[in-house]
Amino acid sequence: MAWKVLRSFRFKLLSGSLLLLSLLLLAMGLFEYTVMQGYLNRSAATNLKDQIRAISPQVWDQIAAGSPTAQSSLPKLLGPDVALALVNPAGMLQPIRRDEHHPHPIPSLSSEQYQVLFAPGSKPDWSGITLGENGQREMVVLLRLGSPEKAVYLVQASTFLKPTEDILHESLAVYGLGALATLLLGVLTFRFLIRRLLAPLSGMVQSLEKMDAGTLQDRLPPQKTDELNSLAHSFNSLLTRLETAFVREKEAQQALRRFVADASHELRTPLTALHGFLEVLLLGAVENPEQRHSALQSMHMESERLIKLVNDLLLLARFDREPTLIREKASMADLLKTMEPELRLLAGKRSVKLDIHDPGFISCDKRHLKQVILNLFQNAIHYTDPLTGSITLVLAKSEAELLPSNSDLRLAKSDLPRAPVLLLEVRDNGCGISPEDLPHVFERFFRGEKSRSREQGGTGLGLAIVRSLVEAHHGRVSVHSVLGEGTVFRVELPL
Ligand code: ADP
Repeated sequence: MAWKVLRSFRFKLLSGSLLLLSLLLLAMGLFEYTVMQGYLNRSAATNLKDQIRAISPQVWDQIAAGSPTAQSSLPKLLGPDVALALVNPAGMLQPIRRDEHHPHPIPSLSSEQYQVLFAPGSKPDWSGITLGENGQREMVVLLRLGSPEKAVYLVQASTFLKPTEDILHESLAVYGLGALATLLLGVLTFRFLIRRLLAPLSGMVQSLEKMDAGTLQDRLPPQKTDELNSLAHSFNSLLTRLETAFVREKEAQQALRRFVADASHELRTPLTALHGFLEVLLLGAVENPEQRHSALQSMHMESERLIKLVNDLLLLARFDREPTLIREKASMADLLKTMEPELRLLAGKRSVKLDIHDPGFISCDKRHLKQVILNLFQNAIHYTDPLTGSITLVLAKSEAELLPSNSDLRLAKSDLPRAPVLLLEVRDNGCGISPEDLPHVFERFFRGEKSRSREQGGTGLGLAIVRSLVEAHHGRVSVHSVLGEGTVFRVELPL
């Protein structure tokens, strides 16, 4: 639990903010301490120099000459904690007065340090800090006095810095207490702010945790801050994608169930028929040559139907898994011309017209395109009158080259392709397709209500196969039909 708290975003935010605040307070404290210390040292040095300068040069000359009267006047002129000494040009220190509060030896600098101030043109004063007894810091100032005609000497005044340092430490302690109080206040304020800031995030987590397959349509509400709003937006688009995928998956499952049921149903019909004929034969029809022949013929028909159905199913299953095309450069015009005798034979007495505007070569699987043409052509045969039926096959490169046709049967303009494509149309003057059936004709196992499909041996897979094959060629297939007038199937293939 404690480990969980340590890893929480809330804790990291709080500890990070407090660390930053502490560092800022520490930096401010250090800065203030350094500035104050410098200021106090400088004012201690100035104070000493001012006190020495306040005493007239004659008094100093007298003291340097050894006058005891002049020396005895000093306590009235200097503070009690100032120690005094004179330094002669040889660097010899002559103590004059000790600090009344700290009667200890007067600090002495090296003779080189003293010599520097005697050098002609050098600065007439100097101040610095030395470490006295017990490691206590002392401020020392030196002032050059006297005149070259008489004698030049240095006055050295020194005082302990402890009183000023005590002030400094006191103010540092006060600052430390203030900083602690600020930190405490910071903890409380940050905790409150972080809790308020993260409350919508917790709300989002709770809403998301409650979601399941049944509530995928729920969405997170808009948030007040930009960042959380874009997070909610991202979650919402993820939920939309999930919902769509879920619906698609459901639809796919339903389609699969429908497909399996339809396929079983379609397979059962010829199998039941076969079984029936076998029973008839076993019951004695086998002895009767006429009955036997008729039963065997029917069984042959049913088995052909079964084989076709299984082959169609296999082809669709293969294209669903991975469409395999053996592409080659081919001319559809040549393909149609080669197929013409076969098509005329299939059509019987129906009129067959080929209108070819050679669109050139395309890369395609010839075998599959042949099947597309055959499926569409066979449908045209099935749904047209055997005597008055008329079927037209049109091949062109663009819309402009197509046959002028009955205006009702013209495909909608919006369906027209933009890039140049190969157009193949199979038109018939058959029974047409009702507007209710039209959107479903490419579905697997779909048969029009009044269709003669079953009697004709149709499986309801012909157009589904056409669509699979055309789409494998990155093309598309569309249909337009007017009931009682005829139907146009159009295949568009990229050139
Ligand atoms: P089938 O094997 O039953 O012909 P299809 O997939 O080829 O299966 O066709 C599906 C349905 O579309 C048919 O049952 C029929 O109702 C309708 N159909 C297809 N082509 C035509 C056409 N040229 N004229 C009228 N109806 C058609």
